[in-house]
Amino acid sequence: MPTPTRRRSRTVAALVTAAALTTSLSAARAAPDGRHPGEPPRTPVATGYGGAVASVSPYATQVGLDVLKHGGNAVDAAVATAAALGVTEPYSAGIGGGGFFVYYDARSHKVSTIDGRETGPAAMNTDFFIDPATGQPLAFTDAVNSGLSVGVPGTLKTWTTALDKWGSISLKKALQGGIDVAQNGFIVDPTFNGFTALNQTRFSQIAPTAQLFLPHGAPPAVGSVFKNPDLANTYKLIAKDGPDVFYKGVLGQEVANTAQHPPTIANPTMNFRPGVLTAADIAAYTAPVQAPTHVRYQGLDVYSIAPPSSGGTTVGEALNILSNFDVSPADQVQALHLYDEASRIAFADRNRWVGDAAFNDVPVKGLTSAAYGKERSCLISPTSTLTSPVAPGDPSAPGGGTTCPGGAPVGTEVTGTEGLSTTHLVTADKWGDVVSYTLTIEQTGGSAITVPGRGFLLNNEMTDFDFTPIHPGAPDPNLPDAGKRPRSSMSPTIVLKDGRPYMAVGSPGGASIITTVLQILVNHLDLGMSLPDAIAAPRASQRDRSVTDAEPAFLNLPQVPALKALGENFVLVAPSGTPTPEIGAATGLQFLPNGEIQAAAEPARRGGGAAMVVHPAR
Ligand code: GLU
Repeated sequence: MPTPTRRRSRTVAALVTAAALTTSLSAARAAPDGRHPGEPPRTPVATGYGGAVASVSPYATQVGLDVLKHGGNAVDAAVATAAALGVTEPYSAGIGGGGFFVYYDARSHKVSTIDGRETGPAAMNTDFFIDPATGQPLAFTDAVNSGLSVGVPGTLKTWTTALDKWGSISLKKALQGGIDVAQNGFIVDPTFNGFTALNQTRFSQIAPTAQLFLPHGAPPAVGSVFKNPDLANTYKLIAKDGPDVFYKGVLGQEVANTAQHPPTIANPTMNFRPGVLTAADIAAYTAPVQAPTHVRYQGLDVYSIAPPSSGGTTVGEALNILSNFDVSPADQVQALHLYDEASRIAFADRNRWVGDAAFNDVPVKGLTSAAYGKERSCLISPTSTLTSPVAPGDPSAPGGGTTCPGGAPVGTEVTGTEGLSTTHLVTADKWGDVVSYTLTIEQTGGSAITVPGRGFLLNNEMTDFDFTPIHPGAPDPNLPDAGKRPRSSMSPTIVLKDGRPYMAVGSPGGASIITTVLQILVNHLDLGMSLPDAIAAPRASQRDRSVTDAEPAFLNLPQVPALKALGENFVLVAPSGTPTPEIGAATGLQFLPNGEIQAAAEPARRGGGAAMVVHPAR
């Protein structure tokens, strides 16, 4: 066993030199394998020893891997990877946003989480998104493209909290890889180009955003080198002065000022309403360390995020419902039907019960209890499909009911406005520590507002609040309020077997994060797919709606006609916020029985992710 002091006493030699990887980028020309000089490999699966990293970006994965190679632990690598994602995935992640961090500590065998969710300004109230001129809620996109949508960023506080509690390197060292990539640049791929193009209209309205992301009035060309010297300097300033320069200093003041006065071009054609975020809001921010949610499934312990995310309770409830059935590869139609129905019911409860627990009595225990899952499972029929919206249950006294509660539809369908942005990373080290970390700025491109001269976008996380009660007259735990955190769907998950890490997984995708994580778990744990296959498999997403979103490949599955005969109503997922119709962009890792670690990313979604291990062979 390692000694308790190992993390602090370990020497981290020379850290990361993503610089070495990227020095030749200015002369970038693709090699026959399609890779440019200096571009790290984009390999979706890696198997080996000594630690692993998976993320959507080869550069970020490489930065995290270099930290591990130099003696850093999983937390150090996760923060370094996240800092690099802030450079290469600036539309999904960065210090202008927030996220949720789940950590398994190999020494104590304990799972802890950090709530780095963005927080509502003190001036927020329940009518925040009601237009005073009309008395009606603002249009979603009008709210997104405004200073009103910007919450206090939690990402930097997440990093410092994680490093202080469990890390072995300084923030300065953890930021170095990201600084190198920002300074030297990365090769623009079709995904980055496509995301920029999707945002071109609104990006063109904000002067510093247009200057950075539309360098010649257009999205950076595929194959060109994208540098972000402003972000490199921002990271350097934080590295030098510490996180207080953000939360209590000049960066915080600039963030607040930018949200209050969106820096539009002269004569903008869009109305970016001013926000109300203040430096005092930013100074008051905390990223609490809190207990994970926990459910047992297939003899394993599944840990994820408690409120303000609905990820842990909703994935957990669905698993508890599925525990009451035989979900097996022998009957793939029933397996998919059960997956859809369990998710439908869990979403009905999520929408009714889950919000910021500091503002609502969220029945986390009931929602994640096996008894409640059993109670709710009685709604599912093997021969028909429930009608949405399903009536929420009462998790306060799980198992109390002797009859199956009615499943009559209630209220109006919640269509959800969460985008398909965000990013997820996983890391593991040679000691067996594991991190599963999802971070976001909400929509792809956040609020579209870049802090002038600082190289990062501000989140639009406040639009994750419901603007008005979703079922008029019924309580809604997710209305805006001062100091409140909007409900999230992020579901970074770590699964233990006999108290030791078994796997970790997570994904972006707004509310479909929950179904993506659930489907990967079902694919792997019930249907026997390897983790890479479970990630690659075609996806569908049922979120208590009359329709079930499905990817093109899912619609071609041989089981679909039989599922339709049961009443499932699949629709091709709208490519909202992405150039292609796809659901999620997961990463995960698994500890294989032979002692190897397998890290896995998407082979195709979002252009494919990158997995790496420290030692491919023992
Ligand atoms: N804001 C979303 C959430 O917290 C994530 C955004 C996305 O993945 O598109 O659930």
